Amino acid sequence: MNKIEGSRCDLDQDMKIQFIAMMLAVSVLGAGCAKNELETLPTPSISPSMAQTAPSVAASTSSTVSVSTHATNTITLPLSDALSRVTKKSFGLYVTPQHSPVSPERFKGYHVGTDFETTADEKDAVVSVQAICDGALAMKKRATGYGGVAVQRCKINGGEVTVIYGHLKLTSVTASVGHVFRAGDALGVLGKGFSTETDGERKHLHLGIHRGKAISILGYVQSKAALSAWIDPMSVLR
Ligand SMILES: [Zn+2]
Repeated sequence: MNKIEGSRCDLDQDMKIQFIAMMLAVSVLGAGCAKNELETLPTPSISPSMAQTAPSVAASTSSTVSVSTHATNTITLPLSDALSRVTKKSFGLYVTPQHSPVSPERFKGYHVGTDFETTADEKDAVVSVQAICDGALAMKKRATGYGGVAVQRCKINGGEVTVIYGHLKLTSVTASVGHVFRAGDALGVLGKGFSTETDGERKHLHLGIHRGKAISILGYVQSKAALSAWIDPMSVLR
């Protein structure tokens, strides 16, 4: 396990895999690791075969990024164009019925996931939801606040997590509990907006990542500190 912290970006050119991992980390670091310093490093030549075997990298919410030289689970997007979709509720956003980007709002607290909005064109269309990681379906049910919700067990950054997919059309989740999805596999489709399929919510995906093995389908927590039990999905989706 190599760690890149702050401006510590030591480079050992003889250790190619570490080098590649570090360069990958650069791409996810944003303002984290001293960018100017890294930009002065020589550009690595990565052959296609090396690139394919390079370890996947996932950023944490802090400025510290852990990079594994061992193969880790691939993380893929839950919806087509997920990264260019509007997010009305981002991770950690505090909402109340009086102050919320959506109206009406019936919830209060810090949002523990990321919402991915649909477009007007998708109002009556089938919008497929894909598993974001390799792992077994742990639960699927109808729940207040979600309509259909599915929970998948995965490993992210080497740690056990459960992934919560909210506002699904429950009958579209045909896999049985225990079925092992691969990242990118079809998991179900979004529920129809403002129907029982979404428990009255707009048509969108709520994606939550809860640390550990315990299943929690909370959409909000009531203290900022409690957010630490959750991972910001946008820090791992690339
Ligand atoms: Zn949400």
